[in-house]
Parts: sequence; C-alpha cells; structure tokens
Amino acid sequence: MISDNLHYFESQLQGTKARLVAVTKTHPVALLQEAYDAGGRLFGENKVQELVAKQPELPADIEWHLIGHLQTNKVKYVAPFVHTIQSIDSLKLLQEIERQAAKHGRVIQGLLQFHIAAEETKFGLSLAEAEEILESEAYRSMRHVQLTGVMGVATNTDDEQQLRREFRELRGYFEHLKARYFAQQPAFREISMGMSSDYRLALEEGSTLIRVGSAIFGARNYGAVS
Ligand SMILES: *Cc1c(COP(=O)(O)O)cnc(C)c1O
Repeated sequence: MISDNLHYFESQLQGTKARLVAVTKTHPVALLQEAYDAGGRLFGENKVQELVAKQPELPADIEWHLIGHLQTNKVKYVAPFVHTIQSIDSLKLLQEIERQAAKHGRVIQGLLQFHIAAEETKFGLSLAEAEEILESEAYRSMRHVQLTGVMGVATNTDDEQQLRREFRELRGYFEHLKARYFAQQPAFREISMGMSSDYRLALEEGSTLIRVGSAIFGARNYGAVS
C-alpha cells in the first residue's frame, strides 16, 4: 500500500532534518493522488512532458521538484508552477530559468547538480564549474532563481564504501559553497541525495532531501505511462 510505504518513510525521517520527495515518474495520477491523500506533498518527476501533463490533474499545493536533466528550451513549460529544479547543470540553464520565472513573476528554487557517480553518463557539474557560475555577473544579478542547495545521483552499486564516499563528496561541495557563497543565506540548506536503495546511507551522510520512487510505488513499467 502506498500510504503504508509513505508513512514508513515519514517515520524513518522523524528526528532528522530531512524531507521526502516522492518520485512519481511513470506512475498514473491516481497513485499520485493516493500518495497525496496519505500526506505526501513533495513530488519529483524527471521528464518535463510528464510533469506538465500530471500537474493540472492534482492538488495545487503539491511542491513539484524536477529531478531529471532539463533542456533549456523546455524551461518555459514548467516555469508557471515548478517549485524546485534539482538538476541545474549550466549557467545557460540558470539564465533561462531566471528569464522564464521573471515572466511569471515567480521565484523558482534550484539545486546545483554535481557529478558524483563513477558512471560517465550521469549529468552534473564539477566544483570548479559551479564556482564559475556562482562568480559570474549573470548569476549575481538574478532575482527570480534562488539556489537552495546541491543534488547528486550516486553510482548504481551496492558497494557501501563507494556510496558513502560519493555522498561525502557531495556534502563537501555543499559545505564549501555554503561557507564561500551562501554563509548569510539560511535558505541554502539542501543536500538532495539518496534513493530507494541507498537512502539510509545518504541520511547518515547528511542528506536533507531523499528522492524515493520504487520503494513507495513499486517497480516502474516504462512501457505504460499514465
Ligand atoms: C528515478 C529517480 C529517483 C528514484 O529512484 P528509486 O530507485 O525508484 O527510488 C531518484 N532520483 C532521480 C534523479 C531519479 O531519476
């Protein structure tokens, strides 16, 4: 049962500062409604088209997080409602988010996505690239994007030592950026890491947002969206 699973995760998070993002990709809106009715409010989707299709079907107080790679030309579709874009990996993307958020008179929250996994295919910034963004004039003049932390996807492995190393690496980036660029900004506080298979380790290593899909909704069937 989705409600039991959701309550289980909420209980796991009791006494921590971390929150749950229920990753709803590939699941039909009826199941998302079930998660909402059980108290879930932070939902994560990884595809713009799917997010845009589901959002109007569900209650307006859901905090939508985009957790997948975002192409600049698709920002306009999510700008009217998205709460947090967790996958910011370029200045160009940040500039487009700023532009689209301004059009809608909104402030969109964002996380800088770091490359922490061994796999080459996973998206994300290096520390040097992130600092280049944060030091740019373009970034400093932005008023409609608020960076609230960092995000990372660890290697798909059950090697605990490796996972811990990667989570620590991400936390290290967070702490460095916090001290250097965001010391006066309490809103910069999120470390988004940990999924169904590795969220316990991620919490131990300081995660503030776990992104959990299959452990709540069951296995995904990529053939049958909604
Ligand atoms: C799908 C996805 C998750 C959730 O994965 P599960 O293993 O189903 O918990 C978390 N983060 C990202 C970026 C994802 O794409």
